[in-house]
Amino acid sequence: MRSTYWEQLKRDLEAPIEARGLGTGWFAGFFAILLAFVGLSMVAAMRWPSWFAMPELDAIRQWGGFRSAIHVSLIGAYALALLSLMLRPHKVLGATALALALGATIMGGAAVQPQETQDWGIFFGLDFFVVNMVASGLMFAPIERLFPHRPEQRLFRTEWREDLFYFLLSSMLVQLITFLTLAPSSFVNTHWDWLSGTRAAVSSLPWLVQFALAMMLTDLAQYWFHRLFHRVPFLWGFHAVHHSARSMDWLAGARMHFIEIVLLRGVTSLPLLTLGFLPSVMQAYVGLVYVYSSLVHANLSGDFDRLGKWLVIPRFHHWHHAIEAEGVDKNFAIHFPVIDRIFGTHYLPDGKWPCGYGVPEAVPSGYVAQMKYPFRRKRNT
Ligand SMILES: [Zn+2]
Ligand SMILES: [Zn+2]
Repeated sequence: MRSTYWEQLKRDLEAPIEARGLGTGWFAGFFAILLAFVGLSMVAAMRWPSWFAMPELDAIRQWGGFRSAIHVSLIGAYALALLSLMLRPHKVLGATALALALGATIMGGAAVQPQETQDWGIFFGLDFFVVNMVASGLMFAPIERLFPHRPEQRLFRTEWREDLFYFLLSSMLVQLITFLTLAPSSFVNTHWDWLSGTRAAVSSLPWLVQFALAMMLTDLAQYWFHRLFHRVPFLWGFHAVHHSARSMDWLAGARMHFIEIVLLRGVTSLPLLTLGFLPSVMQAYVGLVYVYSSLVHANLSGDFDRLGKWLVIPRFHHWHHAIEAEGVDKNFAIHFPVIDRIFGTHYLPDGKWPCGYGVPEAVPSGYVAQMKYPFRRKRNT
């Protein structure tokens, strides 16, 4: 019989003394959980001040070093969790610490803002790329090594430098990209008064319902945007850059033409920014999207036949990148496969994976050449 998560956690915490010595990863795992829990509590105290209304705590919150303390705790938790995951055959301690620290990071980490302010917290800050790097890199790099779909593929595979550059650049340009993509929604918000009833209705829905609705509506917008980029030859020139990756891993998803990123974010954020969702729903959604897009590209094993019917899993998006004919122009959704079922573009045979990734055309390598590619390509054809 398989034991539950709590039983596994308890068993590993109470492991016999010889399985707890130095070098077994037990101490690293234990202190990782401790630090992650401390970090998570501090973030929660900043985020929901009314839950922790004791004046003594308020004094601590006002202390200037509080945010630095959050930062140090979370970085320490990530590092120790990684160490434990590498050293220890049982992964439950490291994985628990990783999940707690990630939860704290998604809530805003050291830059957490009180709930329902208009401030976007980490997502507009320059430290976003650090947080993004730490959260995605430290999480996915070890997980991919533990459960690889292609074990022979290494972390430093071909073109990893190019993709890391894409990753860092788009994280650092997040402020500019956000500014550019806010333009259409602020137009809608100031000119379309007839939406105000909808906005009031949406903002009064329960938080989780709003979150699910935000995922569904952005995915619907994203689906048609994505399909259009596959259909129109000039637009395909931009999107071909994303599909030119021949190896799939958490970093590969970052490869995307700058113009496509701006247009994609502009279109998909429209329902998010104009329909009256709470700021915290939008922030949580943006956080989710960054982690989710690394996840669906990740080199992770597991067929997930049943889960894959409801949620996009790595195998689903790997088929979208397949070199084989049966995967071409299939699986455009990024959250819910049901959208592909409705519009007749679904392809996910049980337990089957594509044999390779990429596009037949010769997309050049290197960031600058890929930025120029859509314009060069048009002239040649
Ligand atoms: Zn595509
Ligand atoms: Zn992709």
